Amino acid sequence: MSENHADLIVLGAGPGGYACAFRAADLGRRVVMVDPRATLGGVCLNVGCIPSKALLHAAEVIREARQGDDWGISTGKVSVDLDKLRAKKESIVEKLTTGLVGLAKRRRVQTICGTAQFTGDKSLDIDGAAWTFDQAVIAVGSAPVRLSGWPKDDRIWDSTDALEIGEVPKKLTIVGGGIIGLEMATVYAALGSKVTVVEFMKQIAPGADAEAVAILRAALEADGVTIHTGTKVTEVKASKAALTLSCEGGFEGSLKADAAIQAVGRRSNGGLVNPKSAGIEIDEGGIIHVDASCRTNVANIFAIGDVTGNPMLAHRATHQGHVAAEVASGHAAALDTGLIPSVAYTSPELAWAGLTQAQAKDQGVAHKVANFPWAASGRNLASSGGDGLTKLVYCPETHRLLGATLVGRNAGELLAECVLAMEMGATLEDVALSVHAHPTLSETVGFSAERALGKLTDL
Ligand code: FAD
Ligand code: NAD
Repeated sequence: MSENHADLIVLGAGPGGYACAFRAADLGRRVVMVDPRATLGGVCLNVGCIPSKALLHAAEVIREARQGDDWGISTGKVSVDLDKLRAKKESIVEKLTTGLVGLAKRRRVQTICGTAQFTGDKSLDIDGAAWTFDQAVIAVGSAPVRLSGWPKDDRIWDSTDALEIGEVPKKLTIVGGGIIGLEMATVYAALGSKVTVVEFMKQIAPGADAEAVAILRAALEADGVTIHTGTKVTEVKASKAALTLSCEGGFEGSLKADAAIQAVGRRSNGGLVNPKSAGIEIDEGGIIHVDASCRTNVANIFAIGDVTGNPMLAHRATHQGHVAAEVASGHAAALDTGLIPSVAYTSPELAWAGLTQAQAKDQGVAHKVANFPWAASGRNLASSGGDGLTKLVYCPETHRLLGATLVGRNAGELLAECVLAMEMGATLEDVALSVHAHPTLSETVGFSAERALGKLTDL
């Protein structure tokens, strides 16, 4: 590699970018990876998946400790040392991001701390230095959407601010009842905030199964979270004493808050890499559209992850990263984006993949539904699990699984079996005849299939 020339250059070191860079290096390519962030890992490791899951774990520990009395276990009043909690979260992030440095070194991936922008279809600028490349992969991710018309105020947070846990506001309003909003509601409710969620659509977690979402909503409300759906924030005023959010729709009135989180989606960073100078097409949302091989409209330039649009999830970015690395290295590869699992790591967790019942109906897909309520799961009851549900959508003719939704403790882990079943074209019979260990929550998947086949003896 001559100086300032890359065989393959990857823009962005998030779960898409590093997965791509490492896979390409494993395939024998000489790879350069560039990111302005001081640490590798992108949003996911630094200010997304990992710190949020660390805080959600802490929230679960707090909840379990508070429920101890039911089991005759007394811990006294639960108190939280925010500095220690923050340090713990940061130590987990640091362990993972420094781990990536080692993985990059082992593969001889050259990492550059800087901002890359195209100057042509084979050239780039990195912080003033000119670079040339044979192939490039754009993996520059996304950033939070900002609501217009809000005042500038330190008490108005995005997800990154919320993950800092600088303080626990007495009253916290979260605008947006999507995954970030609900995960942050779970964290701050456990830490002691009086949380209110304002969601524009008629359901929180829009797009997920309504029956499962109703179980999650009831659990959040039981935890003290107030939820206003079908509600729009029309005005926000900041005074010394509080933020005041005026609302219209499902809830009419104003909400006083000590802090507010905007969690209304993320926008692709595609526009930030000067794509037009390389001839890369980009839409008004900043999204760079790609084919199943992750190719852009420019033959030697690929794009992966959040920059390519929804669903903006780390595991999709990683799989696309592998595909791009393989295709760029002359191998045949593609990603079937139809089966990207979604998990909200709330309490209880909500997890789904494939078609929901409503989607099957709307799309005119012949389907039937089989479910198993977790109230009848021995393992759920024996581990203080609350309400939960496993729901399978299947084809009445072939008995193949078309979709699965689970709500309950560890639902995110249980979803993997359903995804594998769908990928393998498994039928209800395959699932029902697979012996599930007793007592496990995974039995609820087998029980749902047995129920559909009229063979269930556990209800
Ligand atoms: P990113 O992770 O966004 O990385 C892009 C990188 O590109 C960044 O490091 C950025 O600095 C760099 N970059 C930007 N501009 C340039 C440039 N010009 N040149 C070079 N580099 C550049 N997803 C899940 O699947 N599970 C979860 O539990 C989950 N939790 C989340 C929680 C939160 C609070 C948030 C905000 C997101 C969460 N996500 C989760 C979403 C997940 O983080 C993203 O889908 C994922 O990080 C996208 O990966 P990516 O590689 O496309 O981009
Ligand atoms: P989202 O799209 O999941 O949810 C945003 C929510 O805000 C939607 O329900 C939307 O209807 C609502 N909304 C939009 N404008 C509004 C307004 N003006 N007032 C009230 N509500 C409004 O986005 P997010 O929760 O911000 O998450 C961003 C991305 O990060 C998503 O792609 C998400 O999948 C990803 N993420 C994933 C996880 C996970 O996998 N566990 C966790 C966090 C984030």
